[in-house]
Amino acid sequence: TDLSRIRNFSIVAHIDHGKSTLADRLIQSTGTVADRDMKEQILDSMDIERERGITIKANTVRIDYKAKDGQQYVLNLIDTPGHVDFAYEVSRSMRAVEGSLLVVDASQGVEAQTLANVYQALDAGHEIVPVLNKIDLPAAEPDRIKTQIEDVIGLDASDAVLISAKSGLGIPDVLEAIVHRLPAPKGDRDAPLKAMLVDSWYDPYLGVVVMVRVMDGVLRKGDRVRMIATNAVYGIDKLAVLRPQMVDIDELGPGEIGVLTAQIKQVRDTRVGDTITTERKGAEVPLPGFKPAQPVVFCGLFPVDAADFEDLRDAIEKLALNDASFSYEMETSAALGFGFRCGFLGLLHLEVIRDRLEREYDIDLITTAPSVVYHLYMKDGTMRELHNPADMPDLTYVDHLEEPRIKATILVPDEYLGDVLKLCQDRRGIQLDLSYAGNRAMVVYDLPLNEVVFDFYDRLKSVTKGYASFDYSITGYREDALVKMSILVNDEPVDALSMMVHRDRAEMRGRAMVEKLKDLIPRHMFKIPIQAAIGGKVIARETLSALRKDVTAKCYGGDATRKRKLLDKQKAGKKKMRQFGKVDIPQEAFISALKMD
Ligand code: GDP
Ligand code: MG
Repeated sequence: TDLSRIRNFSIVAHIDHGKSTLADRLIQSTGTVADRDMKEQILDSMDIERERGITIKANTVRIDYKAKDGQQYVLNLIDTPGHVDFAYEVSRSMRAVEGSLLVVDASQGVEAQTLANVYQALDAGHEIVPVLNKIDLPAAEPDRIKTQIEDVIGLDASDAVLISAKSGLGIPDVLEAIVHRLPAPKGDRDAPLKAMLVDSWYDPYLGVVVMVRVMDGVLRKGDRVRMIATNAVYGIDKLAVLRPQMVDIDELGPGEIGVLTAQIKQVRDTRVGDTITTERKGAEVPLPGFKPAQPVVFCGLFPVDAADFEDLRDAIEKLALNDASFSYEMETSAALGFGFRCGFLGLLHLEVIRDRLEREYDIDLITTAPSVVYHLYMKDGTMRELHNPADMPDLTYVDHLEEPRIKATILVPDEYLGDVLKLCQDRRGIQLDLSYAGNRAMVVYDLPLNEVVFDFYDRLKSVTKGYASFDYSITGYREDALVKMSILVNDEPVDALSMMVHRDRAEMRGRAMVEKLKDLIPRHMFKIPIQAAIGGKVIARETLSALRKDVTAKCYGGDATRKRKLLDKQKAGKKKMRQFGKVDIPQEAFISALKMD
């Protein structure tokens, strides 16, 4: 395709402002997908995305569009995730395109993730077209939001396109704006091949599928190509574009985006950000790399049934291929046996991976307490990373400990500001800034990441009735008085529940944990002490009283079927529990116990 007829773009927005709906309309109005095959949020292909209504993987579609100037154009759209945990996916796909549509809900205005995403687009050198969505809503205030975009982002919004992605109003104007206001890609067809590895995933039928953006040269079916970073060589079996299902194609020229398969066996050989070139007469210098993903939250994943370990390993390897930002290594725990220590971009990312393992691979899992990465400065002058509180060495060897801090930006309507400030203060936050963007307050806080990973986002949503938006970036490490808190159930330490806490907050957290656990652990035939301890010192204690014998007989008299049903239920519940010494602990306890009310 002629370069001047290609437009590559992404859609950036705060969550729920209508990215996926706009993508649907663009796909539908250009006839890319026949009406009878159309479904809502067509690019959000994973079940989990549909259920939670969020976009997780960036998804791509190639659209043919005949513009009003009579010319035929190829539009490549990459839909990006809006949640803060997936910023890495966003930054990757941004490098593969030249422009962005900035979608802002005209009834809501600019939010924290609008800012974060638009700054990434600007960093990637994008041309940006502001699009005001939901103008069908009575509460829409397009003029006010235009001013807000100019004031807060500093972007000219006078030519913003006004649309309703829901009704289809204004969609033709969006298509024309893409063609006339976004730049065509640049590239040299005669230069050695340079294609950017944008993404890769595992397809049950095709194996490893690699998404590429060709920068220079031409990629052809049958070519032998080399991945520059890994030096692996492959013959290309299949070359396709996404419409959004795969349609085979013989070649991809500069500016084009497509996928390839090449009997790639090694997950490690498809490194996102790598440059693909031809084996012979190839490019020597790779494209500038992407920022590597840094997992910031770690937790252990263990199969409930030890016999599922190999299945879990297999599933984790496949998921890791689908998600370059997820890391894992084998771990053994005294209580939980064999499992994996996994690294995630945030707590939502963790929940998504855990859900996918349980759902797509049908494995019951125990998730241990999430932990951030601490820096341990040892007395011998070395520094160690601590990914797992259970590995905390004896304090006599440790000089001091540093924890990651974040800069959090929160936008919130004035009436909830007080509650937000209180929440941030409670979580050891330091206020950096407070200003106003339109009628919303924008607060910037310096917070310890360990106070944010468990339930900060949930709490923020609940104290602001969902009206706050939140974004963060890691700023660095700082020393603080952190200690390891252990949890003992029936006098046995449960590794998987130990956590690092601030000394001043240890007692409060310890008490909250043991109270929660008392509710989460079912009663047994004997008394169970539940304790929180620092070193050898118990700081909180609860006792779960013993179960009286034959409770079913007492409650339900002689009804045998009812009794059997109850016992069956118990049995099913058992499957989801794990024995610690003599005590069964249900798997949800491991995360629920950490959430603070
Ligand atoms: P995303 O999170 O940015 O991908 O947002 P979605 O496309 O999933 O849209 C979020 C919600 O807003 C959905 O319930 C949509 O139906 C709704 N929505 C999207 N566009 C419009 C619009 O133009 N008008 C109205 N009234 N609702 C819309
Ligand atoms: Mg979406």
